[in-house]
Amino acid sequence: MSLPDIIARIAQAEKDAGRPQGSVHLIAVSKVQPNERVRAVLEQGHRCFGENKVQEAAGKWPDFRQEFPGVDLHLIGPLQSNKTRQAVGLFDAIHTLDRPKLATALARIAQEEGRCPDLFIQVNTGEEPQKAGVMPADTDKFVAECLALDLPVKGLMCIPPVDEEPSLHFALLAKMAARNGLSGLSMGMSGDFERAIALGATHVRVGSAIFGERVPA
Ligand SMILES: *Cc1c(COP(=O)(O)O)cnc(C)c1O
Repeated sequence: MSLPDIIARIAQAEKDAGRPQGSVHLIAVSKVQPNERVRAVLEQGHRCFGENKVQEAAGKWPDFRQEFPGVDLHLIGPLQSNKTRQAVGLFDAIHTLDRPKLATALARIAQEEGRCPDLFIQVNTGEEPQKAGVMPADTDKFVAECLALDLPVKGLMCIPPVDEEPSLHFALLAKMAARNGLSGLSMGMSGDFERAIALGATHVRVGSAIFGERVPA
């Protein structure tokens, strides 16, 4: 697989779903990938990337941003409260807003810094104890709390359980977003992004299908 292949498959999935071309944003998930692979994708003109760790992103993206104007960087991994300010400075979007304490910290820091990344609320659609995200039953209330803090909540995000059909989770997430008046849906990875697009994904997070398998450093 490669970037052009994935872009073509996204275009086909948009078409199959009767959705406008370009309605799905491709977040190229570059976590753990060697810098040469990331650079190769930047040189092909792609600008939207995802990282799952603040520290790792801080180590490589300030330099890439200098060299490649227009980078759009998304945090797709858990955010510790004590890294909130650093994340606000580094990222254009955060997909893992999942608790009131983090919402309050983001609101305060956004006020102080005069900027806030776009936010997605992570929902634990599979209700898995080890996984981050608000429970489905608590989602409407948490969305309302975040909006009351004036946070720029754009949508919902989920990571389905590995052993279940992801479409059920994508459909549930789409339903929850719609009833909360949110248009953004961050869902779909290398193995299931076409199914996510069929169910309304606006942001797909694709790593290994673009860059190849992640090789530990
Ligand atoms: C790593 C990761 C991805 C990308 O996974 P692939 O299977 O390599 O496409 C997507 N979303 C999140 C939250 C991730 O951590």
